[in-house]
Amino acid sequence: MSAPTDPEAVIARLRALRELDAPTHGGHVLSYVYDSGLAAVDEVAARAIREVLPVNGLDPTTFRSVGVLEAELVGFVRGLLHGDAEVVGSATSGGTESCLLAVKTARELWRQTHPRGRARLLAPTTVHAAFQKAAAYLDLELDLVPVGPDGAVSAADVVARLGDDVALVVLSAPNYPFAVLDPVAEVAEVTAERGIALHVDACIGGLVLPFWPGELPPWDFRVPGVTSVSADLHKFGYAPKGASVLLQRGRDRQRHQFFATTRWPGYPVVNPTILGSKSAGPLAAAWAITETLGTQGLGELAASCARATAALRETVAGIEGLRVVGEPVGPLFAVASDDSVPAERQVDPHHWADAVRAHGFVLQLQPALRQADGTVLPSTTHLTVTPVTEAVLGELGAALVAGADAVRGIPHVDASALLAALPPLDETALDADTVWALLQGFGIGGGAELPDAQAPLVAVIEALPPALAERLLVELLGRLVEPA
Ligand SMILES: *Cc1c(COP(=O)(O)O)cnc(C)c1O
Repeated sequence: MSAPTDPEAVIARLRALRELDAPTHGGHVLSYVYDSGLAAVDEVAARAIREVLPVNGLDPTTFRSVGVLEAELVGFVRGLLHGDAEVVGSATSGGTESCLLAVKTARELWRQTHPRGRARLLAPTTVHAAFQKAAAYLDLELDLVPVGPDGAVSAADVVARLGDDVALVVLSAPNYPFAVLDPVAEVAEVTAERGIALHVDACIGGLVLPFWPGELPPWDFRVPGVTSVSADLHKFGYAPKGASVLLQRGRDRQRHQFFATTRWPGYPVVNPTILGSKSAGPLAAAWAITETLGTQGLGELAASCARATAALRETVAGIEGLRVVGEPVGPLFAVASDDSVPAERQVDPHHWADAVRAHGFVLQLQPALRQADGTVLPSTTHLTVTPVTEAVLGELGAALVAGADAVRGIPHVDASALLAALPPLDETALDADTVWALLQGFGIGGGAELPDAQAPLVAVIEALPPALAERLLVELLGRLVEPA
């Protein structure tokens, strides 16, 4: 038994713990957090959450407000993405849930006409990892189409792999790693003709591309073959985490998203999404923010993102030894080493990210990746630009330049010695303590703080066979939350 604690003390402890976090506001973290920079947006979200704090989103017939909020939020996003009255949707807990449900829907539909066999999910290598998760959870064969060195997939390469077993093709608007806008219309023309479902993952782009300056090729419900689209409110909708929308073309399609059962002694269950009892907080917050900002407010925030993105891309283009990968669309891009200059003038993107972090800005390291055809996508560093970025452009630009100057000519961390020193291992048979010992052998974990320099950690991930790297990461995260 433990004695009660004064709530003030409990909250004080929480405050102290929050000091451990990366800053969620102010534009110093260029991933994970999407700060509008508007105090009124945060305030209306917090008030909305407080209003619905005790509500159970499980049952909109008992908690009628939930149904209204969801219908209005879905309607708002549907309007942005040019859906007509045929397009219906659900609020979900985030991009991953929207993606999982898009895959579930397509799989159920495919099974109606293919009672035997295993469905295939076809997508470029750059598709979000949530679809790897969906394929694993829902038992689809994952077929990843290699992309070019610019991160772009060719429509012809996708079309060439279509087949009767393909339950769903997924394209992105844009993809997360390199911000490439996939060739939606070109692929849709063929999938529509062949009756194959096509999901557009606009989790990151859905609430910002509609306002992006310049003409973009159509990628949303304007394209007739697009059967579903996911868009996250907790990204460029500036809502607290836990808010996304999945839109589907056609009620008959969307009903396959649901799970219902009357075959137990409890209440009849009908769930459009994965969770049962759920918070109405993120939904209410996302709704309140879209109502407060309107499309005009979202448009102004997108314009700020666009100005800041253009400025940062110019800054990076001016740094000797670095280059922006491909032709990114939207408020994000990846940076790689520029191998058109001599090695001693090149800047390794991971050392660069570590150096920029020392100047107070957190960028996201992306490991190199070998694709199915043997080609290798380079190590990169990812930046997501938000409306607050514009206010720190000077400071950030200076950090990007100084970081590059500090590490120019330093080669990428070589983890091959590490790999050579590894005893032969069977990843499937490793127990938790053996993996933990391995991690400690790499200087990771062991009760110590996570290291400030991430380049060595990512180099280990790049060098190890994926199954082993994945097992090590599982162990690291598992140990992180073990009670002392
Ligand atoms: C963020 C993101 C997702 C997954 O979303 P979560 O909200 O992190 O679950 C899926 N696709 C893309 C393109 C994303 O950027």
